[in-house]
Amino acid sequence: MEIVVRQGDSLWNYSQLFKINLQLINDSNPSIQPKSLSVGQRIQIPGFVTQEYQIRNGDTLWSIAQSRNLPLETIYLVNPGINPNNLKINQIIKVPLRIKWRLVDGGQPYDYAKLINDITGLQAVYPFLQVPSIGNTVLGKNIPEILIGNGRKRVHYNGSFHANEWITTLIIMIFLNDYLLSLTNDNIIRGLSTSSFYDQTTLSIVPMVNPDGVDLVLHGPPKSEIWRNRVTEYNKGSTDFTGWKANIRGVDLNDQFPARWELEKSRNPNQPGPRDYGGEKPLSEPEVIAMADLTRKRDFARVLAFHTQGEVIYWGFENLEPPESMIFVKEFSRVSGYEPVKTIDSYAGYKDWFIQDWRRPGFTVELGHGINPLPLSQFDKIYQNTLGIFLAGLYL
Ligand SMILES: [Zn+2]
Repeated sequence: MEIVVRQGDSLWNYSQLFKINLQLINDSNPSIQPKSLSVGQRIQIPGFVTQEYQIRNGDTLWSIAQSRNLPLETIYLVNPGINPNNLKINQIIKVPLRIKWRLVDGGQPYDYAKLINDITGLQAVYPFLQVPSIGNTVLGKNIPEILIGNGRKRVHYNGSFHANEWITTLIIMIFLNDYLLSLTNDNIIRGLSTSSFYDQTTLSIVPMVNPDGVDLVLHGPPKSEIWRNRVTEYNKGSTDFTGWKANIRGVDLNDQFPARWELEKSRNPNQPGPRDYGGEKPLSEPEVIAMADLTRKRDFARVLAFHTQGEVIYWGFENLEPPESMIFVKEFSRVSGYEPVKTIDSYAGYKDWFIQDWRRPGFTVELGHGINPLPLSQFDKIYQNTLGIFLAGLYL
């Protein structure tokens, strides 16, 4: 919601009037010098939108504010120049509305267009989110990163490295939405106040590493005949892409990292297909290059890569992980009931590479149980079981 600065206003006033943490207001207005506001400047207030309201007989500005649990002053702020003594029946005024509900819909298959639409919607209400692009997919889709918080501890979550595991994107986006609601309504989640997470942690989220693959699973081949023919051939002529994990070129993005890549390559398929083909060389695919570049640039303290399925958390790689990894995975397990597994016979994944090159905690969390793609009917159960992991990733 946008308001216009009046004589004597300060961001601190706005924070008090709207009961929104001052830091969130500062971060929603990055180009503003908080100590020197000028009259007429426009300021974003996060967590609110304005609604139109038609004056009825007997209304006063005071009664309207009262009915919405807002100070009267907030009505003046969104209606500059309004004369409270001269309200007219049917006159339209603006009223601030505090957003208390999710904007992300957890009940629908989650493709790239829905992701972009939701990010745009969240950014409009929560302008303190930053959404840089990390690069483009093979088909030219922009891969967004979402940044939230301004703490020194840098934490990274990602989803949908594997195309038919798109439910991970939806779980991550619902977590983000609940975190935002908790920050702007001062609500606790599982007994935890999240404002300290915001101050201490910068959370980087890449909710959909493989958008081309996700759209292939959900909508079938692209319109272009070249790609249609190519992916159908990689899929052995089948038009059923529900088993597809790779990117659009048939390369498995989680078999692409230089962490014993040759070993993984030697026993996996040697040509493009729905899954497990590691490419001709490590880091050949644009989605993987983008993730590697991001990881080098951001210097993450820890990373969690969300996959499906199995209800397990992989936390080791070649005994290169630091001692904290075991402490962290015990907490993740405690809050979720998921089983910690140190290593499996698998290499060249994102978390493997992160542990190998940084010697910091990296985890692959396998959400849910069943056959991929997991049905949306499992969404609530998965989210309830694993919400604690998303929170622990911030407070540990
Ligand atoms: Zn996976």
